[in-house]
Amino acid sequence: MADKYPVEQADLHIPELQELARVLQDGLGENFESVSVNVVDCPDLTQEPFTLAASGICGKSCLADAGGPPYLIPTPQINKTYSIDKIANEVGMPGAFALGAGAGHYQYVGTVAELMPNVQLGSECTHEKNLTHMSKVIPEDDSYKVEKYQSTNCSLMVNLFLSEGKPGKVLEIKASKRKGPENFVTCMRKTLQTKYGDKPVGMGGTFVMEKGKAKIHIMPEFSKTPITSNEDVNNWLKFYEMKAPLIALSVFVSNDPGLDLRVEHSHCFSHHGDGGHYHYDVTPDEVSYLGYYVPAEKIYRVDRPQATHKIGRDD
Ligand SMILES: [Zn+2]
Repeated sequence: MADKYPVEQADLHIPELQELARVLQDGLGENFESVSVNVVDCPDLTQEPFTLAASGICGKSCLADAGGPPYLIPTPQINKTYSIDKIANEVGMPGAFALGAGAGHYQYVGTVAELMPNVQLGSECTHEKNLTHMSKVIPEDDSYKVEKYQSTNCSLMVNLFLSEGKPGKVLEIKASKRKGPENFVTCMRKTLQTKYGDKPVGMGGTFVMEKGKAKIHIMPEFSKTPITSNEDVNNWLKFYEMKAPLIALSVFVSNDPGLDLRVEHSHCFSHHGDGGHYHYDVTPDEVSYLGYYVPAEKIYRVDRPQATHKIGRDD
């Protein structure tokens, strides 16, 4: 079962949505030919193409970063288990809508897996609706499989965006035809970092990569030898080119307020058998993104590793 872990917290800077729209419009415009960022009423995200577990991403939002790559590298600590339910309770949001990116529960899956949390948690006033997916490597031929996932446990690490799952005002972000080197999420993160400096702005939401292909990784069974560098990480991970439409669950923070965070983490799933950890699109002329994000009010750091390093965070 999931253990009880220490929780630290920090307030996040919350700019007005209209201001964020202007800032992201300019920043994305340097990296994409066509960009449109607007403040809109959140569409019903339970519908295609998003198929999320809750209709919106508004209401009392926060980020939670549990564990991290230091529990995977150099050797995996496979008994590190995090319960999304328990995290939601710890941060005072029982019954929250949780989305994000993490590692599947090793004991539940029976191997290593990428996790795409997408769950309306249960509480006294809500029933659980768990539309989480996972993807895993098939060791026989290095192919992969995306499956539904009926647990709320994770291993090693998870980055979550929690909200009440309500409708409300959100940023609608459209970007297509990439002309710069940054991926969609990193471009937004660096734009906010440049604008807001050491005032951390945390964002959570979802995007669909509507056209093109993306470079995606899936963790295979743990390495038999210790991993000590980013090169080792890249030799161990399995990389694939996966095709649109990919539905991503995405969290990022513009600046780490001293909590040893993973500042960006987006996992995607699909209904055609593709899914995993999003790196970037590999079809810049063709690519097209549609996203909905909101700023989070707080960030919680759960079970921060004492012995830490920067390997394996691709940020
Ligand atoms: Zn990941």
